[in-house]
Amino acid sequence: MPNPLTRHAINGMVARYNDPHYDRWAAQIRHTGGCTQPVHLRGKVEYRDPLNGALLHRYTTANEPGGVLRVACKTRRASRCPSCAETYRADTYQLIRAGLVGGKGVPAEVAEHPAVFLTLTAPSFGAVHSLCMKNGQVLRCRPRRKGGTCPHGRPVACNERHSADDPRLGEPICPDCYDHTGSVLFNALAPELWRRFTIRLRRVLARNCGLSVKELGQVLKVSFAKVAEYQRRGVVHFHAIVRLDGPDGPATLPPGWATLDGLAEAITEAARHVTVATPEAAELPSLTLAWGRELDIRPITANGDLTEQAVAGYVAKYATKAAECVGTLDRRVRPTDDLDQLDIRPQLGD
Ligand SMILES: [Zn+2]
Ligand SMILES: [Zn+2]
Ligand SMILES: [Zn+2]
Repeated sequence: MPNPLTRHAINGMVARYNDPHYDRWAAQIRHTGGCTQPVHLRGKVEYRDPLNGALLHRYTTANEPGGVLRVACKTRRASRCPSCAETYRADTYQLIRAGLVGGKGVPAEVAEHPAVFLTLTAPSFGAVHSLCMKNGQVLRCRPRRKGGTCPHGRPVACNERHSADDPRLGEPICPDCYDHTGSVLFNALAPELWRRFTIRLRRVLARNCGLSVKELGQVLKVSFAKVAEYQRRGVVHFHAIVRLDGPDGPATLPPGWATLDGLAEAITEAARHVTVATPEAAELPSLTLAWGRELDIRPITANGDLTEQAVAGYVAKYATKAAECVGTLDRRVRPTDDLDQLDIRPQLGD
């Protein structure tokens, strides 16, 4: 005996199939590409001759099945609609790839422009359980020769070798020692930190070649494509493509002195020095936030370690993922939410 929900769904399908408007309904669904949460539009449009106002064509959703026109939701989040997110991922891949090798209106010469793939990390907010590998071997999570306990009486070491599906990965070794406030503030201010980084990078590049920022803009343009990746510990990392162009973008050559090494050097300096202060609050003085020490800068080349295809695939993948991949929500927590009922990691719901 099927449960009431299944019975309701089956009845719905039978009714739909026997509906005289089935063909039109099916055409709408096909048109949305199988979107799981199509937007239902109601209304009418009238096309009039701009000269004499005569009615040329009228469309109303009143004649559509159910009186609605279904259009794809076009979300980029795979957690909301896998089908629309897949379209978004494929489009992003083509867009990013074109920005690296040309195509879609971008000249092929762009492949000669210096470009790197950059990863900016979050700083540490306390020790978390992690999976470390060395020479194909899983290392112990957090070995400490002296052992000992933290002020909350919990061991500071973790001698386990965690497996990739261990739910403790990313969880603090001691939840009371972990700076949750700092990590939340970092996520909130990471976009501002990124914005300041891009400004700083242009300043460093200008200074390194003896120009003002304005003069730099007349000979060189810095282009960015950025995505955020949520780490298991719940903080964001940014991955970005940074490319140097001539003053009019990808169709113009950057000056000869704009090299990969010069770009990497300027990125390192900008990333190391940029900071953002959190606003002061009642019981929380302002904190100064900066990127983590780990900074990865890899040149993107046609035949090197990191190819354009690999980078485009990577960026496109993260463009469709959000915080839900690490066991939290893909939206804000609402005041009316019951935390126990949300599909989140149990520790986060405590
Ligand atoms: Zn959709
Ligand atoms: Zn551990
Ligand atoms: Zn502790």
